[in-house]
Amino acid sequence: MSFHASILTLYPDMFPGSLGQSLAGRALERGDWTYETVAIRDFGEGKHANVDDTPAGGGAGMVLRADVLGQAIDAASPSDDARPRLLMSPRGKPLTQNRVREFAAGEGVLIVCGRFEGVDQRVIDARNLEEVSIGDYILSGGEVAATVLLDAIVRLLPGVMGNDVSGTHESFENDLLEHPHYTRPAVWEGHAIPEVLTSGNHKKIAEWQREQSETLTQARRPDLIAKRQKTLDKD
Ligand code: SAH
Repeated sequence: MSFHASILTLYPDMFPGSLGQSLAGRALERGDWTYETVAIRDFGEGKHANVDDTPAGGGAGMVLRADVLGQAIDAASPSDDARPRLLMSPRGKPLTQNRVREFAAGEGVLIVCGRFEGVDQRVIDARNLEEVSIGDYILSGGEVAATVLLDAIVRLLPGVMGNDVSGTHESFENDLLEHPHYTRPAVWEGHAIPEVLTSGNHKKIAEWQREQSETLTQARRPDLIAKRQKTLDKD
């Protein structure tokens, strides 16, 4: 069975969007993954199919209704659905490559894309939604965040990157950022490719890349180095 994503959104036309192109798009064509959009509007209340209302206690903006969202979730995901139910949310745990790998190893995901001020807390609690953030900034809606999440997952699905081993050396594997890359021409605007890379000495090249990774991570992401040290200390 291939990985299946159910995406609950007020804007179904935003999908597949960029997921229909390139690596993810070819994987979609091959059936390495499938998706459906569930239009939250279809579950709206009354003649005007209302999906949102003013926040209890006052304040700015609108909130997605618990009853409407609850019905949309239940329609897309029966109670025996083993897939994690996610809510894209700036209040969520920041997404990591580790969590992406866990999602990619599963059967799929259900993703709720928020809009307005967010969603009624009761539906988050009652439907056990895991809040996932893609970073410390505010987007206008969860659709772009869901696209980011799915892009990261899909490239890890079996067969999607083919025999390409590049996935195993990338940034965040071993909590290190990746070393710099070079290609032709050998000299560009007076700048040559670092000599070691053209030496043909694979051991030296691997050492150089490792050093570069560590220096770069130390300079840009000392938090990753600290995390790695903690893991090493535990072993
Ligand atoms: N009032 C909310 C922000 C709402 S933004 C707050 O302050 O927490 C509207 C919707 O965009 C959210 O419901 C969520 O689905 C999505 N969104 C915004 N920023 C996001 C982020 N950093 N990561 C994931 N989803 C995000």
